Amino acid sequence: MMFDLVISGGTVATAADTFRADIGITDGRIAALGEGLEGADSIDAGGRLVLPGGIEAHCHIAQESATGGMTSDDYRSGSISAAFGGNSCFIPFAAQHRGKGVTETLDLYDSRAMGASVIDWSYHLIVADPTETVLRDELPAAFARGITSFKVFMTYDLMRVDDAQFLDILTVAKTHGALTMVHAENSGMIAWMTRRLLEAGHTAPRYHAPSHPALAESEAINRAISLARLVDAPLLIVHVSTPEGAGLVHDARLAGAKIFGETCPQYLFLTRDDLDRPGMEGAKFMCSPPLRDTATQEALWRHIQGGTFSLWSSDHSPYRFDDTGKLAKGTDAHFGQIANGMPGIGLRLPLLFSEGVNKGRITLQQFVALSASNAARLYGLPQKGSIAIGMDADIAIWNPQETRTVTVKDQHDNMDYTPFEGRKLTGWPTTVLTRGRRVVEDGRLIATPGDGRFVARERIDLTGHPGATVPELDPATNFGVKVAP
Ligand SMILES: [Zn+2]
Repeated sequence: MMFDLVISGGTVATAADTFRADIGITDGRIAALGEGLEGADSIDAGGRLVLPGGIEAHCHIAQESATGGMTSDDYRSGSISAAFGGNSCFIPFAAQHRGKGVTETLDLYDSRAMGASVIDWSYHLIVADPTETVLRDELPAAFARGITSFKVFMTYDLMRVDDAQFLDILTVAKTHGALTMVHAENSGMIAWMTRRLLEAGHTAPRYHAPSHPALAESEAINRAISLARLVDAPLLIVHVSTPEGAGLVHDARLAGAKIFGETCPQYLFLTRDDLDRPGMEGAKFMCSPPLRDTATQEALWRHIQGGTFSLWSSDHSPYRFDDTGKLAKGTDAHFGQIANGMPGIGLRLPLLFSEGVNKGRITLQQFVALSASNAARLYGLPQKGSIAIGMDADIAIWNPQETRTVTVKDQHDNMDYTPFEGRKLTGWPTTVLTRGRRVVEDGRLIATPGDGRFVARERIDLTGHPGATVPELDPATNFGVKVAP
């Protein structure tokens, strides 16, 4: 039997196993795992690790903020930098803004992604305006077109939903088998802290950290989990940045609730001290929730090791250090006027491989789970996230021994800085395939924009998360009210 392509001689790893095998690929799918396979085309993976291609599940690409700022990466540069970072697929956001419909928002993002992406993609839909029409017609229509995750914000004045709106969205999502995601921070605490700091004359980027207290995150996570439990709906807390927040996710999971957690490299590799740089330099390290401290880093590693977090995502939010991005409001803007977010789509996996796998903090299996397999299951991508017969040939070939020093010049995004500049990392992806097609090979871009495809996603798999109905919402017990005999 002759395959279209054979990847030979590599060490294959999935979220379950590590084994030696050739991979036979035909029609973009994995057709065989075996020894001595023959193909019309071949890639020698001797001495290399052959892993499922990464799924980058939290990144902001060609997205305008509610105040009009645009990310510096579009679907071309964003997908190329994702591919160089070991990813075969990514799921950026399609952001509904107030006054706009969901369907027109998805059409807009289709026009931005189609013909531009080099890897497969989908969107998470940000819901900022849950009108009657949106809840009744447009969210079900989005689900029917394969958008099976909806994101809400508890902060940012132009984006946030209140608790009742949040419950409505959770309920619609649950009905259709979609996953709700939440940016959980207490909006009032942030506004109040910001006002106090500015009144005291504290305007520099370093005051971004105290303006978003750790309590603002843990309060909002606790509230978000409580809302999800009230309606027994699945909920993912994105970019958890505090031990308290991670603890709440852990406890809710232990209780059987359908709660999932995500954390990001910046919370494990940077601290709020990085904000404390001369002039506006600290703006490069502003993201929300903000960077914390070294004790937090250690605690978050424990939660990664213990399985609290299902996802490890970059939260790539590219705003350049110029007047198109961080300095749009001038070089004397106060911290509350500076765009939040930092780049990292190409470094998410090398950081976790080098400091996680190579330093013995996590197993290669945990790495694969966090880089691809868990996202595939949570976000309804059953064809992706593992190396098994019949699955899409989304594959990343890694050189586990190669050491490189991170520099902005080697990044393929459209950014003018990387917050990880100068860091020495061991273990890098060398070749990445999407559906059996070479996207990147030995450090060169092979694919052309438009080679990637939109992937219609399926409902979330909630096996192992029993949930529970609270008496107040249970008609079978008359909503917990005793009826006189
Ligand atoms: Zn984000």
